[in-house]
Amino acid sequence: MNVYDGWRIAAMLEHRGMTRTENVSDADIIILNTCAVRAKATDKVFSALGRIRRAKKSSALMGIVGCVARESGADAFRRVPDLNFVLGPQSYHKLPEILENPDAKLLNIDLSGLEKFDSLPQMVKSPTVTYIPIQEGCNHCCTYCIVPYTRGREISRKFDDCIRDTIHAAKTGAIEICFLGQNVNGYKYTDENGHTYRLSDLIQAAAKIPEIMRIRFTSSYPTEMTDDLIEMFKTEPKLLPFLNMPIQSGAPDVLQRMNRPYDLDQYIGIINKLRNARSDIQISSDFIVGFPGETDSDFEQTVNIAKQIGYINSYCFKYSPRPHTAAALMPNQIPESIKSARLATLDATLNEIQRDFNESCIGKTLSCLYEGPDKTGRHLVYRTPYMQQCIVSRPDNDTMIPALAKIEITAANKASLRGKFVE
Ligand code: SF4
Repeated sequence: MNVYDGWRIAAMLEHRGMTRTENVSDADIIILNTCAVRAKATDKVFSALGRIRRAKKSSALMGIVGCVARESGADAFRRVPDLNFVLGPQSYHKLPEILENPDAKLLNIDLSGLEKFDSLPQMVKSPTVTYIPIQEGCNHCCTYCIVPYTRGREISRKFDDCIRDTIHAAKTGAIEICFLGQNVNGYKYTDENGHTYRLSDLIQAAAKIPEIMRIRFTSSYPTEMTDDLIEMFKTEPKLLPFLNMPIQSGAPDVLQRMNRPYDLDQYIGIINKLRNARSDIQISSDFIVGFPGETDSDFEQTVNIAKQIGYINSYCFKYSPRPHTAAALMPNQIPESIKSARLATLDATLNEIQRDFNESCIGKTLSCLYEGPDKTGRHLVYRTPYMQQCIVSRPDNDTMIPALAKIEITAANKASLRGKFVE
């Protein structure tokens, strides 16, 4: 979501004639698009602001947007007096106001719904992989999560607006689209005739657009994997066989304290349905280790479920107490040293599973989407349907670089694959 917001902020300024610079000292406006999901990310924002204010031109405008802006509000001006603007994730479309009135301090952290989507200019050229936000906010209220506070309650965009943006992306270069939302499979929009649209309707409509060859969505909440959505993996070949469905913990007690109301049988039942719908589907997850009260045995259950499901690619974090969340006030907070040890153990397990999966791809031919040249310029980077990075040699003639290519996988390690084009 933050990558998408970054694109839109850049597009908004480009529409006003501004251009990008890599040098802080050349910039007329400096914007930090921020994430508040962990305390460390928030701290980094303020230390970066300290560095930037010393390096920037005295006339340059400087501000923060996103979740740290929402979390800090007016206090951000107290911490960094030369900040010019503080705009929450639902109000960054107000950014041009500071260009018109640079001497003012602009503060807007309202959760004003979906107004921003109507106020943003369309992008002139879309990347081959384009994000289409379809809903924002979350109603789940996991006890560790700051998102319901920073992004607000769930709101789904109009079905027609999502499809209009998808068509625009396709006409301007997108081959893959990723429907985006904090709780993307909770998407639900009812039109003026009383017709309700779900994520499965969006997938079917997007699949009818000829330029769109690959569709995915993130991030999913387990109990919102409804049968109509699972069916899409069976009936819609453009939907990639890869799904991020965070479990967070393998211990029932911890899940209960996290306020994630599913049990392991239910979660595994959903995975089985998905695998019945599409046998080559692969799953990734997010994990939190060291949640308040997590015992050694709870943690072992998490490692066991990771092995049992065989997640091919996951994100694993130490629990980080956040303001405005219930878990921050829970007893039995886990010492940092134990969190770090558990993180290392789970990371090692997940890395091994990922390497095994990557190695199992050797000899297979996968349909891959071009991403760009690597740093050396001698190789090309593609993405497999499972979001693995796949490196191939650069052909002599760049006109021979296909956007979508059949690639035979010839080697693999934990981080990436190597392959060659299949004629
Ligand atoms: S479902 Fe995700 S976004 Fe929503 S409260 Fe839980 S962790 Fe946060």
